[in-house]
This record gives sequence, C-alpha cells and structure tokens, in this order.
Amino acid sequence: MSGASYTGRFAPSPTGPLHAGSLVAALASWLDARAHGGRWLVRIEDVDTPRCVPGADELILKQLAACGLLPDEPPVWQSRRGDLYQAALERLLSSGWAYPCGCSRRDIEAAAQARGLARSRHGERIYPGTCRPARGGLHGREGRSVRLLAAPSPDAPENAPLWIEWQDRRLGPQRQDVAAEVGDFVLRRADGLWAYQLAVVVDDALQGVSDVVRGEDLADNTPRQIHLQRRLGLPTPRYLHTPLVLGANGEKLSKQNGAAALELDDPVEALAQAGRALGLPPLAPAASAAEWLAKAVAAWQARWRVRDGV
Ligand code: GLU
Repeated sequence: MSGASYTGRFAPSPTGPLHAGSLVAALASWLDARAHGGRWLVRIEDVDTPRCVPGADELILKQLAACGLLPDEPPVWQSRRGDLYQAALERLLSSGWAYPCGCSRRDIEAAAQARGLARSRHGERIYPGTCRPARGGLHGREGRSVRLLAAPSPDAPENAPLWIEWQDRRLGPQRQDVAAEVGDFVLRRADGLWAYQLAVVVDDALQGVSDVVRGEDLADNTPRQIHLQRRLGLPTPRYLHTPLVLGANGEKLSKQNGAAALELDDPVEALAQAGRALGLPPLAPAASAAEWLAKAVAAWQARWRVRDGV
C-alpha cells in the first residue's frame, strides 16, 4: 500500500481521560501511520452521550499532544455527524437490509426464552427475529430501534449463517458467523442514539481510513462492521488489533474498572510503557516524546516489516 493512500485513526470514546491501555491503541495507530508515511486522524466517538464525560474529549486531545501524538487534520466529533448516519440508515432501510424493531429488552428476553435461544458470548440475548420483515414486521407496534439483518441476503432462510472472514495483521485469519454469534444488531437505539457499529463504519469510509489499528477487545466487532461496509457498498480497511494491557487483577485495563488517568509529567515513560505493551524492543533513552517517537517508528517498521511508503 502506498504511503499516500494510508490513512489511520484513533477513535476514543470520551468517557474519561486516556489511561495506559488507551495510550497503547493511540500509539499503535500513530506508529503504523507514520511507519507507512500516511495520515493519522483523531475522531471523538461521543455518540453514546450518557456515557460521555464533559471535558474528557479536550483532556484526551491534550494528553495525546503531550505525548507528541498530533493529528494531521482537526479532530471530528461524531455527535455532529448525525445527518451522515441518518443518510446511511435510510439507504439500508430502503434496500431491505435494515428494519424497524418494536421489541423492548423484556420482549426479547421472553421470545428468546420461549424459543430456547442461547445467549451470545457477552451474555446478551441474540435477537430472536420477532420484527424481521419476513416474520410480519412490527405486528402493529411502534418502531423503537432499527436493526440490520445478519443474513447473507434479505430473503435468506431464517437460520442461514452469515460467515464473515477477515485477515488481521496480528491475529491472522479470523472468521465469525454473525447470524449465529451476534444476530440482527442495532443501528439506531430505542433512545434515538446512533449505535457505534453504524457510526464507525460510516466515518471510517468517509474519512478514507485504509487501516484500523485498535485494541483487541474490539476485534469481535469487526465482522459486524465488514457486513455493514458491504451492505453500504463501502471498502473494507485492513485491521490490526493490538494486545490488551491487563491490570494487576488480570482484567483488561479500562475506564470501567478504574484504570488511572495517564500521568503527563513524564510522557517519555508513558510512551515507553505503551511501547513495551506493543512488543517493541527497548529503545535508547530519549530526551523528549518526539525523540522517543522517531526511534519507535523505526522499531515499528522493523517489527511489522513496513517500509516507508509501502
Ligand atoms: N470508540 C471506541 C472505543 O473507545 C473505539 C472505536 C474503534 O477504534 O473502532 O472503544
């Protein structure tokens, strides 16, 4: 891939300040973009407004800047891009891939239990398909959310698998039956908010993102995003999912389990720690973040066999 056509991004949700785990994803996406001689963007993913913390977006941008991670274009905020998501949703509705759903959580639970359906890996119910157009749609109820069919075609038989295969640069070949493992998933929530899956797919395409580099906890979303890209006629980027940073309790470091905000008094040490998590070899001492980053780009190129502009 030529450097001119490489665009990477870091897409934090402003639910709190950057912590050691999110710096790993930010650094990896920045290093990979620089290693390819490409562009690096920052997108603030603030669609799940109840989870957003006021001011966290600006704090994240400041923390990135303190580490020398500066985007090549002004950041974008997803909360200002609703019209773009609406346009994509309308295309999916009119092509028969998306449909309104009138089910509450309780309805889904009851229908899934009645049909003896399993829970997905994350303990969520797989949508039992009650409001699928082929099963009579809303049955006179009001639409609450909008879902995407997890099926190989809109008129596929009810239990048809939807195998999505993809190649991860670190994890290797991956596959998932989205129909069996996830089911018809939400694009616009009952509370009117845009689902992450739709916003991320629309934005990655509109921003020309060629390479998604993000934490491994998000790898499981990739098949849903590839399905959506195909339904919208959008290209599929390359993917590299980075190792997760585990806390002392062995759990993934996250804002939810109280990961400490990144200390900014020693950005070189914070970067060095993130570099270790990414498997970079120890680098010679650096006097500034910029100096550390320059050495890390070379180490990244060697680690992933990337040549500038290739
Ligand atoms: N906003 C998501 C998060 O902070 C990341 C989205 C992505 O990189 O695709 O977990």
